[in-house]
Amino acid sequence: MKYIGLDVGGHTITAGAADFSQSPARLLRAETCAAPSPRTAENLVETAAALVLRLAENGEECFVGMGLPGFVAKDRKTAARLTNYENCDGLALGAMVERRLASLGLRAEAAIENDANCAALGEGMAGAAAGMEDYVVLTLGTGIGAGIVSGGRLVRGAHGMAAECGHMALCGAELTGCGCGGAGHLEEAASADWLERRAKAAGLPADFKKLWQMRAAPEASAMLSPALETLARGIVSVAVALDPEAVILSGGMSRAEGIAEELAERAQKYLPAPFRPYFRLKTSKLGGDAAVIGAASLYKSAA
Ligand SMILES: [Zn+2]
Repeated sequence: MKYIGLDVGGHTITAGAADFSQSPARLLRAETCAAPSPRTAENLVETAAALVLRLAENGEECFVGMGLPGFVAKDRKTAARLTNYENCDGLALGAMVERRLASLGLRAEAAIENDANCAALGEGMAGAAAGMEDYVVLTLGTGIGAGIVSGGRLVRGAHGMAAECGHMALCGAELTGCGCGGAGHLEEAASADWLERRAKAAGLPADFKKLWQMRAAPEASAMLSPALETLARGIVSVAVALDPEAVILSGGMSRAEGIAEELAERAQKYLPAPFRPYFRLKTSKLGGDAAVIGAASLYKSAA
């Protein structure tokens, strides 16, 4: 059996074959391609199947775990809502990938899970959370995702939608643009995608990296500062709710130099005093590989 994980992003899709025979788990080989255009369910299934075929050797039976950017039902078969992809809501994407691979001559079992939950599993097996039983991974990228491990287990909730921290209502109801349909969400206040949209409207570079580099300039600071402050409140809210050993930042924004230190500093004033000695904000070293390894590891809990 070959274990293949996919990290499906809004802009790229990465697939990797993982080796769980030794500790820590590692990726043997990975392939990345651009997200399909248009981003429809059919195109997603086609792209995923093509990537899996490139990694499958000798037609060996595969387990395919897919980390998806959005809400995934607890059965790990059905997508409840993918905000960056069209017409996926309510579809059994795992079964669709299985059928497509079967039509191409490859036997496979597929499961789907939220991408940040996959990142949390991967960080625990091979990354910044190795050895921890209680931690949170926050993925700061196109959107804001999270995965929570408590008592050594991934927290999934009653419907599979636990840890959707990007949709915590930390802002007022005047923010109505979040792709999930709710108002006042952290993701709209502080994700790279939304910051870039606001930067573009203000005549600033629509690129988070460039915005971060010019953060000392008043016009960039006026845009970044409220977002970082909201993000710091989000991190503290998660820490206070869960009392983790560490909060681990992952995703494109987390790689901006000095951002973890800045967020940790902004977080201090919001933390209850008893939490301050224990508060640890770390940055992922595995990056996107964590979600790929975590997605491949879903075989361990597959029915
Ligand atoms: Zn939302």
